[in-house]
Amino acid sequence: MDLRDRPADTAFRAEVRRFLAANVLGEFAALGGRGGSGDETFGFETRLKWERVLADAGWTCLGWPAEYGGRGASMTEQVIFNEEYSRSLAPGRVSILGEGLLGPTLIHFGTEAQKERFLPPIREGTELWCQGYSEPDAGSDLANVKTTAVRHGDEWVITGQKVWTSLAHQSDWCFVVCRTDPGSKRHRGLSYLLVPMDQPGVEIRPIMQLTRTSEFNEVFFDGARTHGDNVVGEVGDGWKVALATLSFERGVALLGYQLSFVRELDRIIAVAQQNGRSADPVLRQRLARAHAELTIMRYNTLRSLSGVDGPVAPPEASIAKLYWGSWHRRLGELALDVLGPFATVMEAEPYELSQFQRSFLFSRSETIYGGSNQIQRNIIGERVLGLPPEPKGVA
Ligand SMILES: Cc1cc2nc3c(=O)[nH]c(=O)nc-3n(C[C@H](O)[C@H](O)[C@H](O)COP(=O)(O)OP(=O)(O)OC[C@H]3O[C@@H](n4cnc5c(N)ncnc54)[C@H](O)[C@@H]3O)c2cc1C
Repeated sequence: MDLRDRPADTAFRAEVRRFLAANVLGEFAALGGRGGSGDETFGFETRLKWERVLADAGWTCLGWPAEYGGRGASMTEQVIFNEEYSRSLAPGRVSILGEGLLGPTLIHFGTEAQKERFLPPIREGTELWCQGYSEPDAGSDLANVKTTAVRHGDEWVITGQKVWTSLAHQSDWCFVVCRTDPGSKRHRGLSYLLVPMDQPGVEIRPIMQLTRTSEFNEVFFDGARTHGDNVVGEVGDGWKVALATLSFERGVALLGYQLSFVRELDRIIAVAQQNGRSADPVLRQRLARAHAELTIMRYNTLRSLSGVDGPVAPPEASIAKLYWGSWHRRLGELALDVLGPFATVMEAEPYELSQFQRSFLFSRSETIYGGSNQIQRNIIGERVLGLPPEPKGVA
């Protein structure tokens, strides 16, 4: 694979750079690129405004087909956009779940009416979405979903509990996996519903995280309602749609994280040079190793994306998720070791976590969400190595 930009890519890169240089200014530049994973509450209102700036200039939903308001951008163009975006320290994106997960799902499975209703506000950054999959007894084992939806006249009535719902408190809508076929088991009888969040039957309770912020929530549906037409795919066949959304999740993640990791490692190396810790031979070794592994990650990502113009399918997606989640967790530990004893100290009022501390704490979750390390290993074991499948139905 030739990793150099072709002439068309160079022109595209220049166009992206021009836009970012002319717009990442003032209050947007002041955010310093913050607002990413583990930092989602930072500068939220400003980032929402930024979303509109991006949308007005046609820089949201790049990968969507032009007929739905996207640019029909190739994977290469999306990689270039992400690289330049990260390099410019533009604000952390707000509408990730709508743009990256629900949008592509609707484009593949939605009715024309659903596309017309829901895609434009995602593209314009005026409606935000959250993902209602996990429940207290349905995380890795998603097919165990118990939340129900029952048809009453023109509406679905939803009852049950979701958990770990990222950004629910900032979202207008939720895509919810629920059981519409009473008495059905496992992946049969599930449907994929679009549910408005601002209604009496929805209660959102924030969960305090290690980072002392609350990006995710418990969401209680107690007779919540949505219109009968708000089912994506066939009623009772939501498992297929839910899995498709997960494959988009893994593809998008692959693209998004790479350059922020490069920036983070650069900062850690700079601190190690400043405080003299880079003279420690063991730390030097770990820094070099982190650099080498990050380079391997980049080439692997490019390899798995080459020739792909859609979601990155397992097993490549599982290998990448296992690799970057584990790598980033180790990097968080390395960052604190570079700080030494100061790693345990909060600077001054208002005693916010430093970037290194936040990254160390939040990266613990990265080997859990989007499929835990153990689940990724199971997928790799079964689908790549051909090992016997894990026993099913064992209590
Ligand atoms: C930061 C964060 C954000 C999240 N955001 C969302 C969101 O927006 N929407 C949403 O729906 N969910 C979200 N989640 C939930 C996430 O998808 C689940 O946490 C994840 O699927 C794991 O499920 P669980 O927490 O129920 O753990 P469990 O499934 O109970 O797993 C517990 C442990 O057992 C292991 N395990 C489970 N099954 C197996 C097996 N078959 N073989 C080997 N080991 C196994 C797991 O790897 C894990 O170590 C988020 C989670 C986090 C941490």
